[in-house]
Amino acid sequence: MQKIILCKYGEIVLKGLNRQTFEQTLMRNVKRRLSPLGEFECRQIQSTLFIEPKSDDIDFDEAFRRVSKVYGFTKICTAIPAEKNLDAIFEAVEENLSDELESVRTFKVVAKRSDKSFPMTSMEIMAELGGMILEKFPHLKVDVKHPELTVICEIRDRAAYIHLPDVDAAGGLPVGTSGRALLLLSGGIDSPVAGIMIAKRGVVIGGIHFQSPPYTSERALIKVKKLACKMTEYCGTMSVFVVPFTKIQEAIRDNCPEELFTIIMRRLMMEISQRIAEKYEYQALITGESIGQVASQTTAAMVTTDAVCRIPVFRPCIGLDKQEIIDRAYKADTFDISIEPYEDCCTVFTPKHPKTKPALKDVETAQNAFDFEPLIQEAVEGVTVESFKPYVEYEF
Ligand code: ATP
Ligand code: MG
Repeated sequence: MQKIILCKYGEIVLKGLNRQTFEQTLMRNVKRRLSPLGEFECRQIQSTLFIEPKSDDIDFDEAFRRVSKVYGFTKICTAIPAEKNLDAIFEAVEENLSDELESVRTFKVVAKRSDKSFPMTSMEIMAELGGMILEKFPHLKVDVKHPELTVICEIRDRAAYIHLPDVDAAGGLPVGTSGRALLLLSGGIDSPVAGIMIAKRGVVIGGIHFQSPPYTSERALIKVKKLACKMTEYCGTMSVFVVPFTKIQEAIRDNCPEELFTIIMRRLMMEISQRIAEKYEYQALITGESIGQVASQTTAAMVTTDAVCRIPVFRPCIGLDKQEIIDRAYKADTFDISIEPYEDCCTVFTPKHPKTKPALKDVETAQNAFDFEPLIQEAVEGVTVESFKPYVEYEF
């Protein structure tokens, strides 16, 4: 019989009347990720999703990898279905778990019987199946307390399922169940991590990127698109808005005090992001900021950026050290793209001595000395948008 994927629901099980909506969204997300690989049957029984490939030529390992990045499951494992009799169950164990059983010295069998019409109790299944395994693999010993390998046998309605212990799945809530937020995506290490953390809570993510050609290169934009593509494996389909930011940066350079360049630039980024959020129905912004990481991320600096924000700003990396953010970037596989050496607009016209404790009043006075509104409107009108789907190879 064909191997299947078993996924255990996470926080969804705590949802009351809404639970069905969460389950439907999760099922839809799984199907979208898997459908390019072939046909699968997805069945939900209690708090478990059974995913069965409908043909032998499907890349099972790839399907498993994809599902393990879908938010909403706490545990995942591969299971081997077998007919509901001990000989068939043992045959399935022998056929699929021989390598694992050969490579350990101790094991135990755990049996769970949800089909109460099966003629043996769980204890009897454990004893019988354990005995059959010992006979075939005489080097093994049973250790019920600390076995090196645990073979799990579940007797369910349609079949018996043999599997090893579950491993951690992606956790979180299904993307699409918690609203929409727009991520300021820079091409650095932090912002993709921030977006993925918020997607994990079920939020649909869009990206917004500020580019300043010719100060920033085409390669820098491609890098951001590559990051967005990678993020879709967790976040699902993602729109990326690109804002032409050159004129605004030049206006800041020519009209504002140098020590406040970055702060004023960040306030204008927030302003433009909010207008795009409003237009495309995102309810909040996300940034990759972390307290104290750079001059524009001190608490005082964030007071001045938040002062222009009319919608919530999520900053999930706020309390993380750089190394902790890097660890997450490695895990999400965004790190190698993020360290490609292309200029971000933040590094254009950076002040030599940025103010780390700017007073809101001084920043407002400096910014109000120049009328940015026409340039803001021009930037918003010049925004382009591109949409990226998971597991599609885009040509850049
Ligand atoms: P990151 O690694 O995310 O680039 P960083 O440490 O380089 O972060 P900054 O450059 O100060 O920090 O930017 C702080 C946040 O501002 C970023 O995490 C991102 O959310 C946003 N940001 C910075 N530059 C851009 C940009 N060019 N386009 C969109 N958002 C940006
Ligand atoms: Mg950056």
